[in-house]
Amino acid sequence: MTFNELGLSAKVLQAVEASGYTTPTPIQAQAIPHALAGRDILGIAQTGTGKTAAFTLPMLSRLEQGRARARMPRTLILEPTRELAAQVEESFVRYGVNHKLNVALLIGGVSFGDQETKIMRGADVLIATPGRLLDFSERGKLLLTGIEILVIDEADRMLDMGFIPDIERICKLVPFTRQTLFFSATMPPEITRLTETFLHNPVRIEVARAASTATTITQNFVASATGPAKRETLRRLIRGAADFKNAIIFCNRKRDVAVLHKSLQKHGFNAGALHGDMDQRARMSSLDAFKTGDVDLLVCSDVAARGLDIPDVSHVFNFDVPTHAEDYVHRIGRTGRAGKSGVAISIITRADQKHVAEIERLIAQKIDWLGEETLANLTEEDAEEPLGRERGRRSTRKDSEKSEDGATRRKSVRSSSAPRRDDERPSADSAPVREAPASSAPRRGPRRRPEDEDAPVVGMGDHVPMFLLRPVRLKPAKVVEE
Ligand code: AMP
Repeated sequence: MTFNELGLSAKVLQAVEASGYTTPTPIQAQAIPHALAGRDILGIAQTGTGKTAAFTLPMLSRLEQGRARARMPRTLILEPTRELAAQVEESFVRYGVNHKLNVALLIGGVSFGDQETKIMRGADVLIATPGRLLDFSERGKLLLTGIEILVIDEADRMLDMGFIPDIERICKLVPFTRQTLFFSATMPPEITRLTETFLHNPVRIEVARAASTATTITQNFVASATGPAKRETLRRLIRGAADFKNAIIFCNRKRDVAVLHKSLQKHGFNAGALHGDMDQRARMSSLDAFKTGDVDLLVCSDVAARGLDIPDVSHVFNFDVPTHAEDYVHRIGRTGRAGKSGVAISIITRADQKHVAEIERLIAQKIDWLGEETLANLTEEDAEEPLGRERGRRSTRKDSEKSEDGATRRKSVRSSSAPRRDDERPSADSAPVREAPASSAPRRGPRRRPEDEDAPVVGMGDHVPMFLLRPVRLKPAKVVEE
């Protein structure tokens, strides 16, 4: 099959040819003809399958008729993170070279002013993260009543980040008659419910399951002690890596991204960092530095890295094993892309054993261990960070540094009048304008990740006073002889 057979316009076909693509990927071959015919689509596909072009190309063809009006974008693409939104914008630039379309990006961390100007000019394509979009809409700066095509991308990621109530609200603000193109890597019940409510007789297209890992990736585990020894393990792995070009290194927590980043730099490695607390400019410049090869190591957290299309990553290191096995699949999928070979090595401490089992169960594959060290070899001291030290440290840390699970639990007790804490909410140091208005709809307690947490702690949060942590010694009850 060739792109010519899909019914795309001549302008779009020229741009595709200029990109060097000759054969549509399965999701493109299946989705494009239906999308051109105006059908709703439910695409079950993860990044790396070519799904961005599967919705970008037919949208460009359809947008050739008609023009945008001020404040009333014609199409809307919702993305969970700023980086993904920027990536989709790049796609429109690439495939839309022969079109004179206005593409606007509405993401947090950048000033409202420039974005407003673009919207005022009339956007053919609006690419947005949910929070910033609702802020604009609530301020009356944006009308969604002219939307002809709505794309909801990475819906399961939206669920993880607690955006589903926002998505529901947005779906109610766009016309009932719009076309909806909906993409998700997995279909948990909440996502199925959403598709049943907001899609009209969709064509269901499913490609490669999320739980499958590319056969081009060599996966290994390495046992390690925690603390400084774990960082030493990582350095040893990087230095000893065969065919090394560059690497993405994942940590579970933002504070560990920062610590590891500094440590690698101190040891002479050329490393950048990417996490949700960084302002948008810093995030984009880290990413660019990695893409262009100015830095060859990128230390990052899940929220900043998921779905990013960085071609040619030779190695992925899991400095921390992800607590959700599905994240493992997404993380290691940053390497071994487009048929290239890649290496994914995860550092395992004793505390990680249960995650190892979950990962192997999900990918239905046993992963080989590297090196002499085994978890059983580690002494008790190696295996555990002294509890007191860890507790003391945690009790003084703030919201953004919580473990994933801690963040999740606290999130559910958050006040509904607190400001947004979406990924796209401006971080304190970059906020260019007044605070976003509080959402009128209460937010449910979603499966939040540490990245999304930047609002004030509610109540005691996860802080537990030391006296409550002290072991309680009960005196044996006196037995009274009758
Ligand atoms: P996506 O799943 O949209 O993130 O795309 C993953 C990668 O595949 C991107 O680098 C695209 O540029 C690339 N790609 C998209 N369509 C094709 C195609 N038909 N042939 C080869 N590569 C493609």
